[in-house]
Amino acid sequence: MGWTTDIAVVGGGAYGLSIAHALRQRRPDLFVTLLDLGDFASGETGRCGAGIRVQWGATGNILLSLRSLEIFERFAELYDYPDGIEFKQTGYVMLAYTESQLELFKTNLVIQARYGIFPDIITQQEVTRLAPSLNVAGVLGAVFFDRDASLSPFRVLDGYARAAKRLGADLRWGVEVLDLAREGDGFALATSAGSLAAGRVILANDTRIPQLLAPLALDLPVKPLPNQAFVTEPLAPLLDPCVMSFGHEMFVNQTVRGSFVVVCSDKGRSFGFDSKPRADLFPRSAERAISLVPALAGARFLRSWGGLYSVTPDMQPVLGATAVPGLFVALSSAKGFMTSPAAGRIIAELVDGLSPPDWVAALGPDRFDGRPLEKEPAVV
Ligand SMILES: Cc1cc2nc3c(=O)[nH]c(=O)nc-3n(C[C@H](O)[C@H](O)[C@H](O)COP(=O)(O)OP(=O)(O)OC[C@H]3O[C@@H](n4cnc5c(N)ncnc54)[C@H](O)[C@@H]3O)c2cc1C
Repeated sequence: MGWTTDIAVVGGGAYGLSIAHALRQRRPDLFVTLLDLGDFASGETGRCGAGIRVQWGATGNILLSLRSLEIFERFAELYDYPDGIEFKQTGYVMLAYTESQLELFKTNLVIQARYGIFPDIITQQEVTRLAPSLNVAGVLGAVFFDRDASLSPFRVLDGYARAAKRLGADLRWGVEVLDLAREGDGFALATSAGSLAAGRVILANDTRIPQLLAPLALDLPVKPLPNQAFVTEPLAPLLDPCVMSFGHEMFVNQTVRGSFVVVCSDKGRSFGFDSKPRADLFPRSAERAISLVPALAGARFLRSWGGLYSVTPDMQPVLGATAVPGLFVALSSAKGFMTSPAAGRIIAELVDGLSPPDWVAALGPDRFDGRPLEKEPAVV
């Protein structure tokens, strides 16, 4: 089968779906075809910890998350999604256990203040007032921002997909893009469903983007880092804010449904595409989670899953045009759920020929040409 489209979007996760929607909204005259090799929500977005924080230390991360938060706060209205996205806006508390972690938070506060974000720096006692179920032993201090939130990735993906379809985007699941080549002024995509000719192409398939750039002699420095999460049975309300513990290298989020989602870093993992959960990590992660939230000791853990972080050299997303005219990349740098609404709009504006503001231009793929990078420090 051979078919044509104005714009092909590769990848139907949070980035791809948000982009498809934003493109149709901005340019209803252009036909948009989205292709995903898997089923709905089968990529990293369906495996994420469901958190959104603007408490970052690098400009792009802060502004992308802030713009996205403003959109998530009005999601029902903006995407005509009255079912709601299980938005729980009870803030993020970030715990420091060493002087250097506390110093990092203070440095980030100065940067965040430039963009009108003013988290509170709080004491161990104030952490207890905010989240009585936490074991705060060893906590030297923390930062808290009450607009940070948790929300359902599945609802958000559903909201994007329905809104994109309503605007006429063509969403195709189970179609893999196997190869990408230049054809005249546009592109030829070899797919598992036949060849597709597209005027422009947006690669939103996260860690797999380099595989489709390679045939065009382009590269992007992104590495896949396996990570692991687990979820408990629903419990009575125990924990209001999302918690990021720099001591436990862990993120804990009690969702509106009552389940705890726990994401643990595993310093022993090396880069690679094998994201199968490791049996040995689960008990260690559970132990760490229980030491932070002792009430979890009595909870049943339902399941554990693995996923891939897309690690860029500066841990900021990559959004912009490549050196090949008409070819764009949208890479999440492991924060693609929380930054997806803004990323979608930015890509739509770039495709439409708008000049990006400086902070967006700084996220382009050309930044990896040896110039100094603004590195994100607030990662566990
Ligand atoms: C354990 C874990 C916890 C996380 N927690 C958070 C969090 O709390 N908040 C947050 O913001 N982020 C979090 N992240 C990161 C976040 O999940 C990702 O950054 C985000 O989901 C990436 O979105 P995406 O749309 O770029 O990629 P995906 O959701 O992976 O979508 C890409 C799609 O591309 C498709 N694809 C790949 N190759 C091809 C091809 N050749 N042809 C067609 N389709 C293709 C895939 O099937 C996939 O569906 C977490 C990640 C992990 C692993």
